[in-house]
Order: sequence, then C-alpha cells, then structure tokens
Amino acid sequence: MVLTQTRGNDGQKSEVSFSEAILNPSASFGGLYAPTELPDMSISFVSEYLYSDYKTLAFSLLKAFNVDIDDELLNRALEQYDKFDNPNNPVPVVKVDEDLFVSELYHGPTRAFKDMALQPFGVILSGLAKSRGENYLIMAATSGDTGPATLETFKDKDNIKVTCLYPQGGTSDVQRLQMVTEKASNLKVIGVRGNFDDTQNALKNLLSSDEFKSELQKRAIKLSAANSVNFGRIIFQIIYHIHNYLELVRKSVIGLGEEIYVVVPSGNFGNALGAYYAKKAGLPIKKILISSNSNNILTDWIEKGEYDLRDRELIPTDSPAMDILKSSNVERVLFDKFGATRTKELMESLDKEDYYYLTPEELKEIQKDFSAIYTSDKEGLEYIKEYAQKGYIMDPHTATCMSAYKNLREESLPTIVCSTAEWTKFSVTVASALGIDAKSDLDALNAISKEFDISIPNVIAELFEKEIVHTTVVDKDQIMSEMLAFL
Ligand SMILES: *Cc1c(COP(=O)(O)O)cnc(C)c1O
Repeated sequence: MVLTQTRGNDGQKSEVSFSEAILNPSASFGGLYAPTELPDMSISFVSEYLYSDYKTLAFSLLKAFNVDIDDELLNRALEQYDKFDNPNNPVPVVKVDEDLFVSELYHGPTRAFKDMALQPFGVILSGLAKSRGENYLIMAATSGDTGPATLETFKDKDNIKVTCLYPQGGTSDVQRLQMVTEKASNLKVIGVRGNFDDTQNALKNLLSSDEFKSELQKRAIKLSAANSVNFGRIIFQIIYHIHNYLELVRKSVIGLGEEIYVVVPSGNFGNALGAYYAKKAGLPIKKILISSNSNNILTDWIEKGEYDLRDRELIPTDSPAMDILKSSNVERVLFDKFGATRTKELMESLDKEDYYYLTPEELKEIQKDFSAIYTSDKEGLEYIKEYAQKGYIMDPHTATCMSAYKNLREESLPTIVCSTAEWTKFSVTVASALGIDAKSDLDALNAISKEFDISIPNVIAELFEKEIVHTTVVDKDQIMSEMLAFL
C-alpha cells in the first residue's frame, strides 16, 4: 500500500508505505497521509465474506490493501477483538425500528467505538517500534473517550510510552476513573487545571517547543500520534462498515447489492471517512448521513460548502466527543475529491484566515456522498427518551443520529446508525433524559440499570472500587516538567 501527502510536497518524494505513515503520521505543509488507491470493496469482494467472522473479513481487507505488516503481527493485532463481549461478533447490529439498525461499535474494553481501531492499532505500532529498536511517545489530550482507549491499548506495550492530559473536572466520572486507575509503568496521566481547549493548546505548544524536542532527542524518543490523523486508525474504521452491510444481508434485510444509508455521529470525521472509502470502493451505500451537535460546522460544510471558524466558539454539549470545530479528516476527503494542490490551498486558507468556501461544483461533489444535519442537546434528550420507551437505550452521541434518520433520507432504505458509545459512559445525561434524578455517574448507572433491567458491564462497575494510581494535577506551565520527569 502506498500513501501520499494531502498537501503535496513541492516535487519532493511524497509517497510512503503504510508502516512509515503509522510511525510518522504528519506529512509536508501540515498535511496528512492518504491512500493513493483503494482495493475493491464492491459486492464481488464483500460477498466472499458473507459467512466469515469479523477477524477473517478484517484480515482479508488489510491484505487487499497490501499493508507492509507481516501476517503474524496482523493476526496478533486482530486478536484484540477477542477481548470484546462476543469474540465471534464484536459488533452486534441490532434492529431498533422497521428499517433502523444500530451498529453497536462499543463492545470493547473502554465501551466506546475508539476501541475498534485503537485496540489493533496499538499492537501494530508497538510491534513496528520493537522490530526497529525504536522508542515512541504518544501524547494524548482528551475530552473523554480518546484518553481511556489510548491508555488501554498501550498499557504494558513494548517500546511505547503514553502521556495523557485531561481537563480536571471536564470529563465524566467514568471517563476520569478509566484513566486515573490505569496502572502501568509506561503510562502517565496528568490532570490539567483548565478546560479542554486549554489542555489541547498546552499539548500543541509542547509539540512545537524546541526545548521539549531536544529533551526527547537526548532520550532517543520519537513522537507518533494515536489520533485519527494516523491512517493506521482509519484503516480499521473501514472494516466495520463492510461488516454492518453484511450483517443486514445475513439478517435478510437486504439482498447482496441493495443500497443502504449509513448515519455517522461525527467529530474528527474518522468514522465517516471509513464509510466514505468503503462507498467509494464499491460498497452499496446510498449516502452517508453526517450528524453533529450544536457545533455544527460539518453541517455547514456539507449543506453550503462553507468551512468557517470566524465567529464560532466551541459549545460544550451533551455529546462531548463531537465538540470539535477543526475536523481533521475532512482534509482527506478534500484530497480524494480535489487533489493536493487544491487541498493545500483550502487548508492554508483555513489555517491562516480561519475559513474557506468550496465552489458550487465542488459542493455538488461532496453532496454526492454526504448529507448532514445537527441535533441540539434538547432534541437529543427527547430522542433518548423516545427510544427508551421503545426499549432501546442509547447514549447522547448516538441520539444525534436520529435527526438524520428522520429527516435526511430520500428513500426508505434500511439504515445503519453507528453507535459510538455505550450509555454507561454518559449515564447522568441519559438519566436526565429519562426523568431520573441522579447526582453522580454511580447513582445514574444503578438507577437506569434497575429501571430498564439492563446490566452494567464489569469493566464499568469495577472502576468505582479500583485504586487511583494517577493523582497528578498541574497548571498548564508545569506540564513539560511533569512529562520530562516521567520520561
Ligand atoms: C470519537 C467519538 C466520536 C467522533 O468520531 P470521529 O471519528 O472523530 O468523527 C463520536 N462519538 C463518540 C462517543 C466518540 O468517542
């Protein structure tokens, strides 16, 4: 597999292998790596896996991409899905309404869809680092879900260290406990006094600090990234869209070749990009419906072709993993549709002027694949209540998808909603939607579990008993010294 740089490289060498793109994910001019070609994912490929398990499908797709990772490491990576609730079917697709199916992407160890990609990705990154005799640092700043999933995948892995910054008081109890109870000598979790923006900015400053870089060099530590700028994560986010399609065939909801809609609750657009690549490579998806919360920049982009950060401030919502204004994977769509020269122009305008507008022709191209809508917190709570009354409990991120399902479909085709978190991670919000008075996550978990007779997975219940091993909380200007002490 060959990847190339989304903003070009002024005639310099611009193509790298899959493993190089994983280890060193940032490309020239601040761009990303994107595949130059996609393997066939049309019915002729997909139908061969109608009776295969998830790992077999995943392995075959990675082979079709021709990744430069040996089979032993690939198999070890995919064995991570054995830790999911049902190893034979890590992603259950559940019928919720006549033509509405929810793909539950959250049955992994941290109960969020981040596990789908981060679990195998962690094994591959560590394996590559070890075989090269190199040591890597992953620095995460999290508003909630990325942190736990990154820590969980890299805990006790060779040749990798992880530092994870979270805004103190800015995460749910469950998310915080998932991080501060994660015990391993290669992990350092640091609470920062401030909000998520402060935390993320502190990380950015550190990444561009010469002093910090030279300290890393002295210790022979290289930097990589585990967020969805890393194509190594995106590749695992293509597989489950194929799996979802096959599940509908297996359930006799559709015949092979019939089209479906896919609804994706989006933030950094990694999940949506996976669906886009699958559609482009032939998977019969009529359209990808993008749902947002009140941070509705993706709605404007897809409806009007406007990506405009001026006069926008991040609004904290009930679906915090989608509280994003600079959605990084949009760049890979721009590159795929309009090429490197235009992508560089648009992204530089965004970086420097805080906006860009697509031409009407370009907008039409985007709208061939995507439609978009957003959901306010108030509507989201109503959806949670409505579906709970029908017997299905969903988290606030998944709830944003219901506006798309109800308003964006032009035909009544079977529809897959990607559910990105289990209700247990956002139980206080879910409780308030259901009219249950709960002061803490623990109260909310117990009350909902009792009222709806659903169980709380052990990995969540146990968090409240576990020893807290990371107690560091610092001001922004102390982060570097804390990290260097750890390294
Ligand atoms: C990360 C995340 C999202 C957003 O996914 P992207 O791939 O960044 O668009 C949505 N919901 C939950 C619960 C998440 O953790």
